[in-house]
Amino acid sequence: MSVAQPLATAARPPERRGACPTLATPMETGDGLLARLRPVAPGYAPKAWLRLATLSQTHGNGLLDVTARGNLQIRGLTRNSAGQLAQDLADAGLHSHAGLAIETPPLAGLDSSEIADGRPLAEALRAAVMAEGEALRLAPKLAVVVDGGGLLNLSGQVADIRLDAVRRDGAVLWRIGLAGDALSAHALAEVPQSEAVAAVLQLLSALTALGPAARGRDLDPAALARSATLPPPQAIPSPAPVGVLTAGGLAVQGVRLPFGRIAAEALVTWLDGLERLGASEVRLAPGHALLVLGIAPERANEAAALAQAAGLIVDPADPRNHIVACPGQRGCGSGLIDPRALTDLLVTTAPALLDGSLTLHLSGCGKGCAHPAAASLGLTGTPGGIALVVGGRAGDAPVAVLAPADLGPALSRLNTRLRAGSDSAATQITQLGPDGLRALIKDET
Ligand code: SF4
Repeated sequence: MSVAQPLATAARPPERRGACPTLATPMETGDGLLARLRPVAPGYAPKAWLRLATLSQTHGNGLLDVTARGNLQIRGLTRNSAGQLAQDLADAGLHSHAGLAIETPPLAGLDSSEIADGRPLAEALRAAVMAEGEALRLAPKLAVVVDGGGLLNLSGQVADIRLDAVRRDGAVLWRIGLAGDALSAHALAEVPQSEAVAAVLQLLSALTALGPAARGRDLDPAALARSATLPPPQAIPSPAPVGVLTAGGLAVQGVRLPFGRIAAEALVTWLDGLERLGASEVRLAPGHALLVLGIAPERANEAAALAQAAGLIVDPADPRNHIVACPGQRGCGSGLIDPRALTDLLVTTAPALLDGSLTLHLSGCGKGCAHPAAASLGLTGTPGGIALVVGGRAGDAPVAVLAPADLGPALSRLNTRLRAGSDSAATQITQLGPDGLRALIKDET
């Protein structure tokens, strides 16, 4: 199985734009221009999705992505077609947010198990930021999370600024955090909703003062903290958005796009079937997922079969749920390996790694688009070979670099070792440590 063409090929160095591709400023990729949409509506009816799929074929190459943060990407555009796509989307009422990314959980307002519906606060914040106009000069990739909790909460989503709903003495407060997920962010204060917008604007002004590239991590949390002591953060577990999920009494069917991508033809077939089954809405969700609403429980199996036929992941136990990958050589000019072939290799050669205890990141190059944060274990395409990165980002210093032909035997040795142990893959890899892991995969033991 070939996971990579000769590595020192004509792959382009990854483009680090420091900005997110939009309809107005699409990004050059290996298959044309890519535009990322942050839909204003939390979800679309199947008919609207069908229109989207058709537009992706008319103006692009008919490939659509759902990103790790739950945004939609349309690929294979040209300079001319991107403009026409923007017009056609607007005509169809499929509007996108522009400017500062303010994210809420995909089921906000529908999930009765959430602490608070974050959407009104998110809207108030959007309006306040817009009213500030040129007074705020923010980094294009700056992200604010407004997480009211619930089943599919955003506690694991890293953000520059976050507002996490917490219950204190019967009241709901918003915990303001800087640079991290709900556990790792630096907590600054817990405020009532009426004070939250002003508090965030203050942070955005502080970022503006630091310069247009400043991110949440550049602010000094000690100088900004309003409370000397705050309760420790609470981990709020959130299941993978795959399979039949019940969110506060609401039944939802989650599907994941393998490699975060679906072809318009497959999407159309799936949506046609969903319409027949009575689906009312399909929502984008973090983790390269789509959530289907309105399917009656007795038709859930039919809906799952439809999704499976369209190539979507419907089983929470599917080992591919633990792999995060970009298109690599198959769809990006910077790709040095083929993550899809690598996935097949992992599933067949090293299933012990896919026990769910760790996240594997397969990255076509060191840019790490599919998973910008650190991953438990990563395989990254580099000009010198396939880099094995432990607990780091795709471009971080590797534990070892392997020739493509050596990867299969190396994974096989690792699999044998993990199978012999009784602990999870994550625990055993931690126990091995970088030196032990390097020796094992290089066969130097
Ligand atoms: S990480 Fe993947 S998608 Fe991003 S630039 Fe590299 S090869 Fe392309």
